Amino acid sequence: MQITELSLANQRVLLRVDFNVPMDEDGFITDDSRIQAALPTITYLIEQQAKIILVSHLGRPKKDKMGKFDKLKFSLGAVAAHLSELVASSVLFADDCLGAEVEEIISELQAGEILLLENVRFYPEEEAGDKVFAEKLAQLADIYINDAFGAAHREHASTCTVADFFDNQHKAFGFLMKKEVESGKKLLQQPKNQFVAIIGGAKVSDKILLLRSLLEKVETIVIGGAMAFTFIKAQGGNVGKSLVEDDKIELALSLLSEAKSLGVRILLPVDALAADSFDNDSPFELCDSANINNERMGLDIGQQSQDLFAAAIEDAKTIFWNGPMGVFEFENFAQGTAAIAEAVVRATQNGAFSLVGGGDSVAALQQMGKADEVSFISTGGGAMLELIENGNLVGVAAIGN
Ligand code: AMP
Repeated sequence: MQITELSLANQRVLLRVDFNVPMDEDGFITDDSRIQAALPTITYLIEQQAKIILVSHLGRPKKDKMGKFDKLKFSLGAVAAHLSELVASSVLFADDCLGAEVEEIISELQAGEILLLENVRFYPEEEAGDKVFAEKLAQLADIYINDAFGAAHREHASTCTVADFFDNQHKAFGFLMKKEVESGKKLLQQPKNQFVAIIGGAKVSDKILLLRSLLEKVETIVIGGAMAFTFIKAQGGNVGKSLVEDDKIELALSLLSEAKSLGVRILLPVDALAADSFDNDSPFELCDSANINNERMGLDIGQQSQDLFAAAIEDAKTIFWNGPMGVFEFENFAQGTAAIAEAVVRATQNGAFSLVGGGDSVAALQQMGKADEVSFISTGGGAMLELIENGNLVGVAAIGN
């Protein structure tokens, strides 16, 4: 079912959202984009006069020695207060997600009103995907809607198991989830021809599965960031003190040879900005990426690499970007990532479909004020990577459309 096909008036709707927002030590929300991203679905449910029960996780709460959770750090109470400023409806908060008190609040909930339940991860059954727990959550509502794309790769009770307790006429995706899944699937349906993937960031080990699956789908893979140095070292280059995963050298070589046999072009940086230390103010020099002084570390790609990568990107019809080209958080080493962002924007202006997924590349685009200039920015880094790796997600399959 589509959300727009459901009869929602006066129905109790359990809406799984991803309100896993960053907070500072005083419990102040430092970035509310995940709350903003859920607003279209919440607003629609208000307009449709549903009784809205929001369920979410926040962080990874662990019990202390006394067997208690740090409620201050992991409570969704501050999120409820923030949400009430963003919606035209009253927002109630329950300091549990199950139990008699919750049931009583729900029984008195008015059409169009919102109840935010406390962090669902205060129950270990959530992450275990526990059936009994999921059934209790399901009993709170008549309809289940999943809009938590950022958690759609987790086989948890409120993202997956709970859906089993609703038939197809009583469950659907929210608008965010639908847009994310459609964009990811659109990317996967593009022809291999002129499909360029740009992969950067710190570690090869985090991106092995992604790189492997991309070999089947793309014509070119551009590799930047620290992870490029493992590949450069594998090919006999001298990378100095750059971040390298020595135990992944063999793997890097096997990925390179697999790429060769599949006819996939791999582009690695040819030059680098090499610094004395991991510091924005460190002295640095431009050098050959395979010939870095033993006392220096590569923190960004150089001009030649930027030109080489930009030429490949600008020829593309389909682009997937995950991970920065250098330490973009340091102004002196942000130029490589900025140049790639500009190339992706130019390709998009020329008609390419560009999808940017993964926390840091999204943060880099936002920092450069270019977030609106690509085709799609994913709000769920890990989920989008898994969608691209496997072609589907457990949380998507659970809804079944
Ligand atoms: P990831 O989470 O794997 O996408 O990695 C992102 C992080 O990689 C960012 O914080 C970057 O600062 C870091 N990074 C990118 N390039 C380098 C580099 N050459 N040396 C060290 N860290 C880097």
